[in-house]
Amino acid sequence: MRVVVKIGTSTLTKSGKIDTEYIKGISEEVAGLVRNGKEIVIVSSGAIGFGAMKSGIKDTRGIVKRQSLAAIGQIILMKEYEKAFSVQGIDIAQILLTYDVLSNRKSYLNLKNCMEMLLKNKVVPIINENDVVSIDEIGTAFGDNDVMSALVSTKIDADLLIILSDIDGLYDDNPKKNSDARKIKVVSKIDNEIESYAGKAGSFFSVGGMKSKIRAASIVMKSGSTMAIAEGREKKVISRIIEGENPGTIFLPSEKLNARKRWILAAKPKGKISINECAIEIMKDGKSSLLPVGVVNVEGNFSQGDVVKIGSFAKGISLLSASEMRKVKGLKSKEASAALGRKVSEIVRRDDIVPC
Ligand code: GLU
Repeated sequence: MRVVVKIGTSTLTKSGKIDTEYIKGISEEVAGLVRNGKEIVIVSSGAIGFGAMKSGIKDTRGIVKRQSLAAIGQIILMKEYEKAFSVQGIDIAQILLTYDVLSNRKSYLNLKNCMEMLLKNKVVPIINENDVVSIDEIGTAFGDNDVMSALVSTKIDADLLIILSDIDGLYDDNPKKNSDARKIKVVSKIDNEIESYAGKAGSFFSVGGMKSKIRAASIVMKSGSTMAIAEGREKKVISRIIEGENPGTIFLPSEKLNARKRWILAAKPKGKISINECAIEIMKDGKSSLLPVGVVNVEGNFSQGDVVKIGSFAKGISLLSASEMRKVKGLKSKEASAALGRKVSEIVRRDDIVPC
């Protein structure tokens, strides 16, 4: 069984300090699981927080400041894990990722081969975002480790993603303000109602917040795996979830996408195709291809074969380059074929479209 465990900064710290005891405890638990044949990958935040503690900085706002704090804190974070895991006789490995690396098929395959070898040798890979080089503004950042851990899970075919947080699951209202707030134990579909709970809760959850956890869940569910959110400080929480207990909220797999669709789902789109109402209506059920006549606008500079965003509801592999797509937008297939001098019918095949 392959499990990804995401640990947030607030779980790794206590009263503004690194919680060494917690890290020792989690390492002991993970080491036990690895000895029992489980493959465990940790996605750990904490670089910026630990860097800020070391530098005595309270206000961590500002891109360059956060980047340098992450550079300082990442080694402190790994040193803590190294200390704790070496007592257990288990080796760890550091992997720093950007959205680009995961979206590029070649670098992704390099990563996957390396991860497979580490896991085969009972090493625990510890992943964080490479905050020093990835920033939102240039589109290389995941934004938060919730979404990154979901993409990593999808890409390495994990059976389960466990997000350890400072809250013990998804609630229908803020449990700190409303004592009647109800915990949602099982989610089998992410609908407007579930999304609205994340909105209400947004302000009091740490780092990525519940919204990004729901985004992560939607990626994991669509790829045919399970995700759990649980309070990170509960005793033996990882082992209990692996054994089938549900101390928090469990998100069940909705469908098993094939490897190609999983790839599309996790890829970073190279451009965006806006489509008209009529095309939206026809394509909503996921059973129709995209034709040139439905396209109203083309953004970005993608090549044939790149993943593009389609409207606001799907991603797909484009059969045309961005410049070809601009030439044929809005045209009927016959006119589009004349414009490009070759037969053009569908421009994104229905089998290459994944709602997201
Ligand atoms: N990568 C950041 C860090 O290690 C945290 C991002 C997050 O917590 O979602 O500090």
